[in-house]
Amino acid sequence: MPDSLSFCFGLACAGTLLEGAELVTRSVPARARCAPCGRAWDTGMPPDMICAACRGGATELLSGRELRISEVHWSAPPTAPDPTPVPQPEES
Ligand SMILES: [Zn+2]
Repeated sequence: MPDSLSFCFGLACAGTLLEGAELVTRSVPARARCAPCGRAWDTGMPPDMICAACRGGATELLSGRELRISEVHWSAPPTAPDPTPVPQPEES
C-alpha cells in the first residue's frame, strides 16, 4: 500500500507545481478484536482475522484502515528575477 501510494503521488505531481514533492508516510499496524471473547491482536500481513482463543471469525478491525494527511509543508518558490524593463517607443 505505501509503495502504490508513493507511485501514484509521483505520477500525480509530475509536470505540475508539485513536481519533486516528497511524500512521507507512516504505517499503522492493523489490529483486530474478537467480538465474542474480547481478545485483541495484531493481524499481521496477510491479515489473520480468526481469533486464536476461540477460533471465532466475528472480528472487527480496530485500526489499519486509516489514511490521513497530518501535515503539508511547502516553501515559497524561488523569487523570479525582476522583468527587464520594456523599452518604450520614442515619441517622434
Ligand atoms: Zn475470540
